[in-house]
Amino acid sequence: MTELGPNPLAAGEHNISVDEARQAIAAALVPIQGDETIPLLAAQGRILAADLISPIDVPAHDNSAMDGYAFNAGALPAGTAWTLRSVGTIYAGQPWGSPVAEGECVRIMTGAVMPEGLDTVVPLELCRVEGELVQVAPGTVKPGENRRKAGEDLARGKPALVAGRVLRPADVGLAASLGFTELRVRRRLRVALFSTGDEITAPGQPLAPGHIYDSNRFTLASALQRLQMEVIDLGLVPDDRAALQAAVDEAIERADVVLTSGGVSAGDADYTRDILRARGEVAFWKVAMRPGRPFAFGPLQAAGAAEAAGASAGRTSWLFGLPGNPVAALVTFYAFARQALLQLAGAVPADTVPPLLQARSAAAIRKRPGRTEFQRGIVYCAADGIWEVRPVGSQGAGVLRSMSEANALIVVHHGQGSVAAGEPVSVWLFDGLV
Ligand code: AMP
Ligand code: MG
Repeated sequence: MTELGPNPLAAGEHNISVDEARQAIAAALVPIQGDETIPLLAAQGRILAADLISPIDVPAHDNSAMDGYAFNAGALPAGTAWTLRSVGTIYAGQPWGSPVAEGECVRIMTGAVMPEGLDTVVPLELCRVEGELVQVAPGTVKPGENRRKAGEDLARGKPALVAGRVLRPADVGLAASLGFTELRVRRRLRVALFSTGDEITAPGQPLAPGHIYDSNRFTLASALQRLQMEVIDLGLVPDDRAALQAAVDEAIERADVVLTSGGVSAGDADYTRDILRARGEVAFWKVAMRPGRPFAFGPLQAAGAAEAAGASAGRTSWLFGLPGNPVAALVTFYAFARQALLQLAGAVPADTVPPLLQARSAAAIRKRPGRTEFQRGIVYCAADGIWEVRPVGSQGAGVLRSMSEANALIVVHHGQGSVAAGEPVSVWLFDGLV
């Protein structure tokens, strides 16, 4: 085993920090090519392929921001009371045809188009109305107030959304507000997924003594579905050279990413390394983190890709070899794979990094500097209104229930030591608003 050299991506085994691993991955990846047109209602979570240029001004016309009376304040003397004569009512969506003279006003509804020549709206509740006369006390409104200008939200020809945006509900609504019915998005990232291990059994099958059910494939497939990625489920692969070779080759053939769990720790059979090394420059890391030390990453090419002119020739698949331990598999997925897969799928950097928030730690956390620790935590609002986090009961690396109970990961950074109760800690929330 070598110490971390200048290139952590070189094939071989390296000690590496979480940040170094993240940087090495980000530096290596090249986003996939290819896009498709999809209906607006299928667009949430997908990645915009090109800037979405607004074909219209939003709003399309000057309009009223209030229910009130529209008039031309610019033409009236400043600093005095105004008495205006109301000449009618304009509703949203109905044009006003006739001119409005100086000293006249029109009752106007929010969103209704401002008549030609009028610049100001006085809100209904701020004026006194007697019959058709509307009294406005001095200083109630300034000229131009309560009028939304055409193109104020978005000018025609300007980008409403930029390429690489991971589309959220408001973005889909924004596209609809511009009249779009379809969007051009990146094709889905194809991720081939398999679990390894002779002791692993598919749910639905009888469980032999000493065997356990495969949970990683289901955890990871679900995480990929949330990211709107295409899951190619290659099932369970026994600890067997030929079976692993076949699974790796099929995965490279069909997918942009090969996501595996298990079989990458130092104690695992050597042929895993042989097979992966034969297909690419795979680095095996011992990451200074807990849980989740072993991690494999690197580019893979189809067998004989250099010589063959087949469909997959020259195309790279990226291996993310996660540890088998169920908590470690998901923690390393969140710590490395999630961001990397979004980057590969074409997302802008700002949309790949989940916010790292601060919460007050309800308990003391023992930790020594020199590695990053991820504890499962529950974030809640304490009695004094401050958001607090407490570690869930069992932090055992194999205890998937702790991950299920938790709503956040507590991230205790590489250089950090123990945390006292009451001190702030970093947290990653599992969920944001949808
Ligand atoms: P490994 O990394 O293959 O040495 O596995 C580490 C631990 O995780 C072992 O206890 C395995 O039984 C367990 N494990 C590996 N793969 C899975 C899986 N797909 N589902 C649940 N547990 C697993
Ligand atoms: Mg194993």
